[in-house]
Amino acid sequence: MRDTDLFQAALGLSAPWFISRSEFDGDLKQLDLHIDFLPGSRFACSSCGGAGCPVHDAKEKQWRHLNFFQHKTVLHARVPRAACDKCGVKQVSLPWGRPGSGFTLLFEAFLLTMAKAMPVANVGQIVDEHDTRIWRVLDHYISKAVDALDLAHVTQIAADETSARRGHDYISLFVDIARRKVIFVTDGKDAATVAAFATFLEKHGGKKDNITDASIDMGAAFIAGVKSNFPNAKITFDKFHVVKLVNDAVDEVRRGEARTSDWIKGTRYLWLKNLQNLTDEERASLVKLEAANLDTMQAWQMRLNLQDLFKSPSVTSARKFLNRWNAWVETSDLKPMIKAARTIMGKADEILRSIASGISNGLLEAINGNVQAAKRKAKGYRSKHNLKLIVYLIAGGVLDTLPT
Ligand SMILES: [Zn+2]
Repeated sequence: MRDTDLFQAALGLSAPWFISRSEFDGDLKQLDLHIDFLPGSRFACSSCGGAGCPVHDAKEKQWRHLNFFQHKTVLHARVPRAACDKCGVKQVSLPWGRPGSGFTLLFEAFLLTMAKAMPVANVGQIVDEHDTRIWRVLDHYISKAVDALDLAHVTQIAADETSARRGHDYISLFVDIARRKVIFVTDGKDAATVAAFATFLEKHGGKKDNITDASIDMGAAFIAGVKSNFPNAKITFDKFHVVKLVNDAVDEVRRGEARTSDWIKGTRYLWLKNLQNLTDEERASLVKLEAANLDTMQAWQMRLNLQDLFKSPSVTSARKFLNRWNAWVETSDLKPMIKAARTIMGKADEILRSIASGISNGLLEAINGNVQAAKRKAKGYRSKHNLKLIVYLIAGGVLDTLPT
C-alpha cells in the first residue's frame, strides 16, 4: 500500500477525491497531505443539491487536521466552485471541512470535546492554536445548535440567575426540566429575561400556553416575568431557595449576636452546615456553644427543622408542619427568623407545590455549580457572550449535534 492510499483510507476519502501526495517534515514536525479531484469530475451544487455541475474554477485552501502521532497534520486541497444552472457558481461542499474554517470537521469535534472539559486557553496551548480561533469554532457550532433547538415539547421550566463576573453582572438560565438541558441563556436577571425566553420558545416551536410549571427563586423579577408571559404556569419555589432564605436569616442572627458574645467568633461556616456534615472538631465546639444558650443556636435549630418540611409525604402534612414551624419561630424573639418565616408563609402555596409536583431546581443548582467551576478554572471570560457559549456547551447538550 502506498502512503497516499493509506492516508486516503484513513481520511475516508472517496472518488472524486484522492490524496495526490504527502510530505513529511521531521524538523517542522508536520505532515502535509495534498488532496485533489479527478479531472473532469462533476459535483453536486452546494446550494440546491442538483447533481452533475461542471467545475468553474478551483482555489487552493488548507485545514488543520488531527495530529499524525505527535506531528501537526495539514490538509491542502484545490477547492472547486461548480457552475449550477439554477444557482450560479458555488463552492462545493467538502467531506472533511466546512467553508470558512481552517480546521477539519474532526479537528473541530476534537476542540469542542476538549473545550467541554477544560478552559479554552488550555485547549489552545495543547493544540498550539490561538484561543480566538477556538472560540470561533465554539461560536459556530453552538450558535447553530441553539438555532436548531426544537422546543415544541417543553412544558416545565426552571430558571435561575448566575453571576457573570464580580459585582452585579448576571446571566439567566432557563432549563427544560424533562430533558434536563439548558435551552436558553440571556443577559440580566430581571423580568425581561423571562419575556426574552418566551419569545425564543415560540420561535422554536414551543407555546407559552403549554408551560404548566415554572420553578424559580423568590425574587420579584422572575415571579412577575412568569405571571405575565406564561398564563398557565404554576410557580414552584424551590427548597434550595427556601433554605437559602433561612440560612441568610441565621447568619443575620449570628452577626447581631457576634457584637455582644465572644462565643460566636469564627463559627460562621458552622451554621451553614447540616449536622451530618460537621467534622469532629465542629461537633465539639457545637457542644460548648450549646451551653452558652445562644440565639444563633436556636436560629440554627429552626433552620435544621425546616429542612424536614421537604420530607413530608403529602401537601396536607407539609402544611401542618409548616404552620407548627411558623408558630415556633413567631414565639421566639429572633427578628430575622420571624421575617424569613413571614416571607415563607406568604409564599407557602408555591413552596408546598414542590412537594406535590416533585419539581425542583436541584438540576439548575448543579448546572450553576458546574458553570461557576468552569468560570473559576478559566479565570473568567473575556465577554458574557463567551460565558453563554460555555453554559450551552456544558449544560445545553449541544455536543449531541457535533460533526463526527
Ligand atoms: Zn444549485
